[in-house]
Amino acid sequence: MAERIVTGLKQPLEFAGTSLKPSASAGIALYHGGNGTVGDLIVNADLALYLAKAEGRGSYQLFATTLRDKFEEKANLERELREAITSQAFAVHYQPQVSLQGGKVIGVEALVRWEMAGRNVSPGEFLPVAEKAGLMPALGRIVFAKAIRTAAEWHRAGIDFGRLSLNVSAQELREADFACHLLDLLKQEGLPTRLVALEIVETVMLDDENTGIGLTLKRLRKAGIRLELDDFGTGYASLAHISANEVDRLKIDRRFVRDIDKNPANTKIVKAIIELARGLGISIVAEGAETDVELFWLHDLGCPAVQGYGIAFPMPSSQAEAWLATHSLAPHRTEAIHVA
Ligand code: C2E
Ligand code: CA
Ligand code: CA
Repeated sequence: MAERIVTGLKQPLEFAGTSLKPSASAGIALYHGGNGTVGDLIVNADLALYLAKAEGRGSYQLFATTLRDKFEEKANLERELREAITSQAFAVHYQPQVSLQGGKVIGVEALVRWEMAGRNVSPGEFLPVAEKAGLMPALGRIVFAKAIRTAAEWHRAGIDFGRLSLNVSAQELREADFACHLLDLLKQEGLPTRLVALEIVETVMLDDENTGIGLTLKRLRKAGIRLELDDFGTGYASLAHISANEVDRLKIDRRFVRDIDKNPANTKIVKAIIELARGLGISIVAEGAETDVELFWLHDLGCPAVQGYGIAFPMPSSQAEAWLATHSLAPHRTEAIHVA
């Protein structure tokens, strides 16, 4: 019946000389008796309708209890996230970036970590929920405060970490006081702006004309903070944005690094990105290098720097500090790979 109704509603309508093409989706819930209310039945149908729309308009879905569980899980996660923000229950891990010419540490990327009820929830799972709930600015400020404090301590102790890279989303950058907040924080903690970089994805750059993000980024860059394009090659980068006037570094996305030795398309793409960056006077780092073979190929293609499990995993601050202490003394194993 739903199929008949949806198809029936799809018939074009002639109106004022144009043909209108309506579409409809349907959500279906069945009443099996028991103690559910009419209200529950309508909510269930609504959840099924929501799914039908999400799966492409003009279809129908039948309610299943797993659907309600999924929605409840999301609502729970959002509630837990709000609590975690209030209690600042996030940790920050640090993943080193090293030069492929000599193995010197050139930076550390700060990555948020959240343990909820004994489980490590991955950023890929909770960040979209935070984004949807408008919680990114609050979450980002907790990460910034912790990471900048740690880096400032390292700086005072003479531990060379290169530069601290902070991930930042469009929602955070749209806050009117984003730049002020960050610059104040750096001053307060005593971390020079030249030791800080912001990682943004390509789409954020395209957003700028409408939101003033461009101005914020320019101001921060002028203050000495470096700007990096994250996940490069996966978004909608307009080459017009990629100039040394706007960006300091491109981060080649892991999807191009994976199996670089076996996938000729990836080899060509990485080679082209390296050429492009070199021509424009922008620096480069490849992310997600896991194996020695990948590291070797990147080195061979002239990639100047890498970050990935093949060098080091993201680590809590104490572990990262120990890692930095040993690696700033001894040349890194990429040197050995190079020689091999
Ligand atoms: P990203 O910025 O692309 O960060 C790199 C991700 O790749 C991290 O995942 C890191 O743990 C992982 N990774 C690093 N090396 C390797 C490797 O060799 N192999 C593989 N398979 N993975 C590797 P993570 O920590 O789960 O973060 C996921 C994403 O969440 C990040 O992607 C970033 O977009 C976002 N994110 C993380 N922390 C923050 C934050 O504090 N603020 C904001 N706005 N976003 C964040
Ligand atoms: Ca990043
Ligand atoms: Ca990335």
